[in-house]
Amino acid sequence: MAEIDARIRRIIADVMRRNPGETEFHQAVTEVTETLAPVLRKYPQYAEHKIIERICEPERQIIFRVPWQDDRGEVHINRGFRVGFNSALGPYKGGLRFHPSVNLGIVKFLGFEQTFKNAITGMPIGGAKGGADFDPKGKSDDEVMRFCQSFMTELYRHLGEFTDVPAGDIGVGQREIGYLFGQYKRITNRYESGVLTGKSPKWGGSLVRKEATGYGVVYFVEEMLKVRGDSVQGKTCIVSGSGNVAIYAMEKLQQLGAKVVACSDSNGVIYDPRGIRLETVKRIKEVERRRISAYAEEHPEAEYRAGGNIWTIPCEVALPCATQNELDEASVRTLLANGCLAVAEGANMPTTPGGVRALLEAGAAYGPGKAANAGGVATSALEMQQNASRDAWTFEYTEQRLREIMQKIHHDCYATAEEFGCPGNYVVGANILGFLRVAEAMVAFGLI
Ligand code: GLU
Repeated sequence: MAEIDARIRRIIADVMRRNPGETEFHQAVTEVTETLAPVLRKYPQYAEHKIIERICEPERQIIFRVPWQDDRGEVHINRGFRVGFNSALGPYKGGLRFHPSVNLGIVKFLGFEQTFKNAITGMPIGGAKGGADFDPKGKSDDEVMRFCQSFMTELYRHLGEFTDVPAGDIGVGQREIGYLFGQYKRITNRYESGVLTGKSPKWGGSLVRKEATGYGVVYFVEEMLKVRGDSVQGKTCIVSGSGNVAIYAMEKLQQLGAKVVACSDSNGVIYDPRGIRLETVKRIKEVERRRISAYAEEHPEAEYRAGGNIWTIPCEVALPCATQNELDEASVRTLLANGCLAVAEGANMPTTPGGVRALLEAGAAYGPGKAANAGGVATSALEMQQNASRDAWTFEYTEQRLREIMQKIHHDCYATAEEFGCPGNYVVGANILGFLRVAEAMVAFGLI
């Protein structure tokens, strides 16, 4: 007993010592590893094969220079990353993030999370993440194109439909995937649709991929509430962020009869007690690429709170869909005091460890990102299926598949938590479920 706990403490200490300064990576590793003691007790072979130690070490890490020129001809240098974390269950799969905060520690935390998330989907995909410290904000279309071309000019040699299949994340959407795909096609002389997902449905993308992460989060919430004899219908909700995940989480909430009263961006919060007008958000963010403050200029009934904290707005369902560590313990306590019943993560690791503890202690329905937001990457796997069979499915069929996948993810996480003595704890359920699937394949493949 004590021996296993000591082993887990040693693994975490080793990761911290060998990866100095990578605080988000330390946080992600600690959060998962802390829940795995019961697994080593039940399956001592995973300790013997040092599976946790191996999973914490990425299979490969690529860092490269990305030079590009802005519209005035000035030269800029960014840093590109791709971390292939684990390929036990399939080719490396995970998004690319373009944001000034991107560094190796961020990419590694995301790649680590992705490995578990992808295993939880039950689809044949390994875990990876990549990106660059490039800031797309305020850049022209041409600048974004030149950046993407330069980025892919190095990255292409590490990709392939059976090797590594990137997609989008923060700062990378259909436009960027288009430029990246164009450059890959040009350099390799191959129209290899399955090398990137999140493509436009007009040239090999899947319908529902754009909506999938946000829709999936709401399907997950619906399942959590169903277990408690409840549903999202009629609930007051807040959704942080106003990017792709937030927009389609709001859309599905509204379709299911919930009222969304707030969303945000990194500058401030929009509070619209009538209910957020989604068409306005979509136009501002997807077409005009402006800040969310523009919403209040068009809707005087809504309030814009510059630098405000969205979590002080009373709600029953809260979906953090912006970025890591956006929801801390104090904010969780405010949410709970205001009657919040359910929190599900559309972003990756948006809740701090203290925030997670507070949610679990209060017995709130809490869906961690690696389960709740897995609908995005699961639909990427559906895109890969369509590409492999040179087929294109209807919106209705693809959405039905997504819904079934989210229901199964919820069911499997719930059952795993119960099996390991923590009923209703989706953190335990998701971590152990993901770990067991990866571990079994790794043992089968021998020491590689
Ligand atoms: N970036 C998304 C995630 O965090 C999607 C990755 C993908 O579709 O490959 O899961």
